[in-house]
Amino acid sequence: MNYISTRGQAPAQTFSQILLGGLAPDGGLYVPEVYPHFGHDDLAVMRTMDYRELALTVLARLADDIPVADLKDLVDRTYTAATYSHGRADSDFSQITPVRRLEDGLYLLELSNGPTLAFKDMAMQLLGNLFEYALDKAGLDINILGATSGDTGSAAEYAMRGKHNVRVFMLSPLEGMTRFQQAQMYSLQDANIHNLVVRGVFDDCQDIVKAVSNDLEFKTYHRIGAVNSINWARVAAQCIYYFKAYFAVTGSDDQPVSFSVPSGNFGDVCAGHIARQMGLPIAKLVVATNENDVLDEFFRTGVYRPRTSAETLHTSSPSMDISKASNFERFIFDVAGGDGDKVRELWRAVDRGSAFDLKAHGLFDRVADYGFESGKSSHADRIATIRMAAERYGTVIDPHTADGLKVGLAHREPGIPMICLETALPAKFEDAIVEALGRAPERPAGLAELESLPQRYEVLDPEVEAIKAVIVAHAND
Ligand SMILES: *Cc1c(COP(=O)(O)O)cnc(C)c1O
Repeated sequence: MNYISTRGQAPAQTFSQILLGGLAPDGGLYVPEVYPHFGHDDLAVMRTMDYRELALTVLARLADDIPVADLKDLVDRTYTAATYSHGRADSDFSQITPVRRLEDGLYLLELSNGPTLAFKDMAMQLLGNLFEYALDKAGLDINILGATSGDTGSAAEYAMRGKHNVRVFMLSPLEGMTRFQQAQMYSLQDANIHNLVVRGVFDDCQDIVKAVSNDLEFKTYHRIGAVNSINWARVAAQCIYYFKAYFAVTGSDDQPVSFSVPSGNFGDVCAGHIARQMGLPIAKLVVATNENDVLDEFFRTGVYRPRTSAETLHTSSPSMDISKASNFERFIFDVAGGDGDKVRELWRAVDRGSAFDLKAHGLFDRVADYGFESGKSSHADRIATIRMAAERYGTVIDPHTADGLKVGLAHREPGIPMICLETALPAKFEDAIVEALGRAPERPAGLAELESLPQRYEVLDPEVEAIKAVIVAHAND
């Protein structure tokens, strides 16, 4: 299995070759040359598997250059009930991603029972073990530099903590994250985790990361890497739970199901698209956005019009406050029939800060063939949905999941189960829950005192040189 670039001008690579990198050298994203396919007989066997067996079956096809015995060891160490046991007390953690029935034909796929209470742990925990394995094999180490507004940074830190050949330098804004999110990151005491709190907002953090990464000499000398959402291994790991959920709610492969996915960078729902391409009987993939509705606009009109950060609204589902969907190019590559020249042409407009219209390229009709639908949700919608879910289903959900449930409910079809992805636990976003329900959400066991734990971080001015100095001081610890 080789990986090629969506822009068609980079050499093909193996899974291991793209694991530690970011963009392809031509500026595109890596995608499989051909999707592996699971036929009827395969699906019948996979239906009987537990999460780890399923993960191995899917990943063995996508990462076929890693010896299966090694892959099995990585998967077995990653997907344990102990790691994914931070959810509601009545969940069956042995399932790793339990499915909760809300009512007939409507389900919640629990993806947020990992250590940071967001679905990003599903992929990031595997990435941590894959990085350690690949670096060991190559005799290398890496310094991961990133910026976070909350969920990604903590998922990365909890995945990389204690790894002997990885150091993490994570920039976070002095203002903007919830107290819970801050405490989650800053309470880590591992020597290889560096929390750099920047006197500024998230965009300042991101600008610094870009500036450091653009300094190629510095980047090479200090072995700077990233774990951002375009990383192929993250997308690959996210495919697994679509299979798991499908088998959990169906009795046979004749039964299609739909998924509703709270979306920002299009990573999570892109994994659903890939699962569908690999043969999983998915009817609809419903893309749910918040007030930042770039993706909803695209699926309604064919116009992809990324916004600037100044045009991006700060909402009560902050992890979806995204104005440019970094994984979207992977889907458009498929819509364009794998034509890298066409993708390059379309992204010339995007990279200039302007829009493209798939109708004008005669491609919009094809989007419907992939089962995508979309909708958006507002602050009032998500508060009402949190309230409704608590009253009708007896289940408290977080604001992002509420966006997905709101939009998913509007796209149900008779006879087709709708599975809504739970992208975070409510404990992470207390304010919205208090606003909706008049009470704080329950805390998973062991996290009641999170905010009173000792914290370990360094506050810095938003200056590139200050950040570089910290990296230089610790790059060889
Ligand atoms: C990251 C995140 C999302 C968006 O997922 P994408 O893969 O970026 O589309 C939604 N909800 C929560 C809670 C997240 O952390």
